Amino acid sequence: MNPFSLAGQTALVTGANTGIGQAIAVAMGRAGAHVICAGRSSCADTVAMIDGAHELTLDFADPMAAKDTFATRKVDILVNNAGIIRRADSIEFTEEDWDAVIDVNLKALFFTCQAFAKAAIERDTGGRIVNIASLLSFQGGIRVPSYTASKHGVAGLTKSMANEWAAKGVNVNAIAPGYIETNNTEALRADPDRNKAILDRIPAGRWGKADDIAQTAVFLASPAATYIHGAVLNVDGGWLAR
Ligand code: NAP
Repeated sequence: MNPFSLAGQTALVTGANTGIGQAIAVAMGRAGAHVICAGRSSCADTVAMIDGAHELTLDFADPMAAKDTFATRKVDILVNNAGIIRRADSIEFTEEDWDAVIDVNLKALFFTCQAFAKAAIERDTGGRIVNIASLLSFQGGIRVPSYTASKHGVAGLTKSMANEWAAKGVNVNAIAPGYIETNNTEALRADPDRNKAILDRIPAGRWGKADDIAQTAVFLASPAATYIHGAVLNVDGGWLAR
């Protein structure tokens, strides 16, 4: 048996229409999984890239959106990738910008994990959860208080859920991506000063690619990672080692 194969597994990836989520969905498909591409926007482009994939509408404007998703279909791997960011000075940060980010990045993530784990434990099939955290699970950031709070929360919840579910066969881990080339970071890369400052600090000397995160997600979902529980794995070109 290839310990890195996902053959026979079904993986659901949230926010699979673009960026890191799309790359994860494609990599899971390449590793042999049947992939469910979940999004609030159409995932048709991603579905077209993966043999046998299909799509599911999940909009975390309602953080409980996935509460019935796993009762009716067997899913072995859950990747919580959907996330948003709002930028403003903390002194004038609004309740709306606080709630929107916490609802999608933290509340929806927790209740999606809960629904997944409940089904996996009832079926006694085990399962894998991979949460997408951030460097701001460890660092403070500037002008992104709700994002930083949410991603610190993702790291904490990953450990907390791992403690409860490890003995029940559900692995809960997270990936903390560094600076990755997606739509999300286009403005940073377009600003020569910010781009240089970021690159100067990355030991690897380059921006990360969505596929760098995707391959790590495949690993954490694979039999090779069976004994990994509660890890928050930095995939950041060495940023946090500086
Ligand atoms: P992105 O291109 O903006 O993708 C974000 C994804 O989340 C999109 O699919 C988006 O859907 C989805 N989403 C947002 N709100 C949603 C909602 N209410 N319901 C369902 N889906 C929703 O950004 P990305 O860079 O690929 O980010 C993916 C994850 O990686 C996020 O959790 C982000 O915090 C994290 N991350 C990224 C970086 C980086 O450098 N890029 C670094 C650290 C962590 P729509 O397209 O419909 O908006």
